[in-house]
Amino acid sequence: MARTPFVCGNWKMHETVPEAVALASEVRDGLGEAAGKVQVAVAPPFTALHAVGQALAGSRVELAAQDVHWEAKGAFTGEVSPGMLLDAGCAHCVVGHSERRHLFGETDEAVRRKVGALLGAGLRPIVCVGETLAEREGSRTLEVVERQVRQGLAGLSAEQLERVTVAYEPVWAIGTGKTATAAQAQEVHAAIRKILRELGGSAADRIRIQYGGSVKPENARELMSQPDVDGALVGGASLKAKDFLAIVKGALR
Ligand code: PEP
Repeated sequence: MARTPFVCGNWKMHETVPEAVALASEVRDGLGEAAGKVQVAVAPPFTALHAVGQALAGSRVELAAQDVHWEAKGAFTGEVSPGMLLDAGCAHCVVGHSERRHLFGETDEAVRRKVGALLGAGLRPIVCVGETLAEREGSRTLEVVERQVRQGLAGLSAEQLERVTVAYEPVWAIGTGKTATAAQAQEVHAAIRKILRELGGSAADRIRIQYGGSVKPENARELMSQPDVDGALVGGASLKAKDFLAIVKGALR
């Protein structure tokens, strides 16, 4: 089953509005042969979403947010709703990133609520899962990832599941310069695909599973050439247009 690769840049808490617009514009203008063959998105901080959305309007680069609250509106100081993300021009939203799970206490139940709210608003969730170093060393990788996938996606129909992207991001590889080997990534991606098949039948063949964790131009092509690695969620390297575009081109099959 040929799935269009999907590469998303997670800018985390980086870039002012003018910097973000400049970076997004460079990505927009540099897609070249990847345009239309690789799905591409960038996830700026909330403050830059609208301006970057304007810069990307009508282009092949889509807008993603880094987080969301599941309620539509109300007294939730500091939070942003799915409708607000849509209003700013977003098509996607990252959910359950390990930095949110580990630094801000995001639970699988919160992930499940966010996924439901995003889908309800017509947005596409990118759901991050992944084990810590201690969990990998304790041979608990597949158990942890299975729990995160099953609980984060609980209750979704096959049609809803097809609108979800899963990002496998081993926590020990995020921002550390350590990357999972292509074989390590493929093993976990295949296990995730198996769970997705149990949850959504043949929809599993159409769901993209991205790899994330110190993806760079030098390792992107090998990782994304694995049969179940359908793209990448890129942190640090997405802050340089040249590197991010090289990773995008590494997804060309
Ligand atoms: C991420 O933030 O999702 C990520 C994978 O970061 P990095 O590429 O910097 O490891």
